Amino acid sequence: MSQIYDRVALIGLGLIASSLYWAIKRDGLAGEVTGYARSAETRETAREIGLCDRICESAVEAVEGADLVILCVPVGAMDQVAREIAPALQAGATVTDVGSVKRAVIDAVGPHIPEGVHFVPSHPLAGTEHSGPRSGFAELFEQRWFLLVPVEGTDGDAVDRLESLWQAIGSKTVRMEADHHDLVLAVTSHTPHLIAYTMVGVADDLSRVTDSEVINYSAAGFRDFTRIAASDPTMWRDVFLNNKDATLEILGRFTEELFALQRAIRTEDGDMLHDYFTRTRAIRRGIIEAGQDTDAPDFGRTKT
Ligand code: NAP
Repeated sequence: MSQIYDRVALIGLGLIASSLYWAIKRDGLAGEVTGYARSAETRETAREIGLCDRICESAVEAVEGADLVILCVPVGAMDQVAREIAPALQAGATVTDVGSVKRAVIDAVGPHIPEGVHFVPSHPLAGTEHSGPRSGFAELFEQRWFLLVPVEGTDGDAVDRLESLWQAIGSKTVRMEADHHDLVLAVTSHTPHLIAYTMVGVADDLSRVTDSEVINYSAAGFRDFTRIAASDPTMWRDVFLNNKDATLEILGRFTEELFALQRAIRTEDGDMLHDYFTRTRAIRRGIIEAGQDTDAPDFGRTKT
């Protein structure tokens, strides 16, 4: 594949940034990739494993001369990072981010972007429960959606060019409006994570079931919850604090449904439960048919 950007700067060197680096490098999509992370430890690890062509000692140094800057830090750190790099951005460059929430990131980053620099927010629907510079792999984005959330008035060529990069690393792309994005993600990702965190927390609280019993006899349902609930605490704290309204709305609906199921169990309304589970099974089939998961019973454990 041919080069799309001359110099790409990755700010933050965790799961998403390291996966992007390996994919971009594998396919020769950038001339040079620079990187920066907050801690000296992460920068050292990156150097040790050959992550990025050049690891810089500051975010400013990393973005100098870059025609694409990708912010790969937790959502709550976007504002500070954008403020820091803004004076060093080169005219004509594109800044994007991979944050899991879009409206809050647009509000935090947008005001810092100088005239003549394009800001094209995005979000890969790809991830694992692992984090840090060692957790990335080039195939993470293959066949996954990469959502682009351009703000009004953004230069069309800048959006097209970024979209071609996401497609070149194997993603399917679609453009979406920010508030709609946040609502969709509250349903498909944010609220399910919160439920998994809660369920694992509940099991942890049950004094009649010992810790070792929970661990030894964890059946598929609980085991899957623990995998999700092992996700990075900083990232997920920031997601909930920054997608508050949509998450609370979906949680409200979730609570109503939960009460309905609770009542069906208490009143022994087997028909209601059976109908409900038949509907949910069809949704699972739809996801498999759309190529977003496999039917393998151990999905998610082998690679992640
Ligand atoms: P991660 O593995 O935890 O890595 C985060 C990186 O950001 C670390 O290198 C960290 O540096 C750096 N960082 C944090 N604060 C910083 C700051 N103020 N300045 C500079 N660097 C800073 O995170 P990730 O999973 O790659 O997630 C990154 C972004 O992608 C988040 O916004 C998240 O919402 C989004 N996202 C994640 C997933 C997922 O499943 N993980 C999926 C889609 C999108 P240190 O190591 O030095 O602390």
